Amino acid sequence: MSALALQSQAACATADPDLFFPDESTPADRIAAAKEICAGCPIKQACLADAVRRGDWDAICGGTTPAERRTLVRAARRAPGKASARQLAVKHGAHLLVSLVEWQMSLEQVAVDLGSTPAAVYRAFLMLTPPRLGQQRTVPGNVIEELLNTSKEQLRTLERRGLSHSEIGVVLKAQQSIVSAALSVLRQREEGIARLSAGGRDGLQRMRGEEVRVRLESGVGLSPQDVVEAFGRTILRMRGEGKPLRRIAIELDLCRETVRRAYRVMTDSKALTRQDMGEAA
Ligand code: SF4
Repeated sequence: MSALALQSQAACATADPDLFFPDESTPADRIAAAKEICAGCPIKQACLADAVRRGDWDAICGGTTPAERRTLVRAARRAPGKASARQLAVKHGAHLLVSLVEWQMSLEQVAVDLGSTPAAVYRAFLMLTPPRLGQQRTVPGNVIEELLNTSKEQLRTLERRGLSHSEIGVVLKAQQSIVSAALSVLRQREEGIARLSAGGRDGLQRMRGEEVRVRLESGVGLSPQDVVEAFGRTILRMRGEGKPLRRIAIELDLCRETVRRAYRVMTDSKALTRQDMGEAA
């Protein structure tokens, strides 16, 4: 059940939402029942495309389970005619950096956006943010990405507080070499953005504001940070009422994983003050 599912044409608009969120123990007949509803849905194709674009790997959407969608995406990656890393770097460099760094989109989401593959997006990213002279990339990129995805703000905060890389590693339960590499990548990305955003920082902010507005209106491709900004207090209030995140995601017409990450951002980084929490409750 995707963000499109609450539209009036959606065949699942009045169905039991739990039917569309299978887990490992869900019997095959329940999955088949959900797929049967999708089979007669007039927005099935749009629903499938929307789920892939948003990186929804939780729900049954467009007649596919998350596992089936992953297979489809993998097959699409192998398809010919995708933009190469060099083409991405030349044609979409600024957009690619802004999407990955500022909007914290996944490699997969950016690849879908730019009509390429996650591997090509990552290679383009490396081209746009070359290691400094004498600096070797000795840590696999996906490990760095994972640390940046989960703890970017904490990394920045701890470094600002003057902790050494090994101390940061102890706090974040990561190896020192990975912390050093992640901080280096973070700095290089920020430099890359500054270099590539012709309008300077202000131009970048304006671009971001416009993109967030479009995303909020369409409900497509929202990052956890967007969700915090737009729905943070509502999510906290609903959690205070005892609603599970899955239910909140459905009621707000948002991707469940993005809501979960947004909630973690708020509760981990204490982005909202105690007073905010009081107002939201
Ligand atoms: S395709 Fe399935 S999940 Fe998507 S809107 Fe239609 S019935 Fe709902």
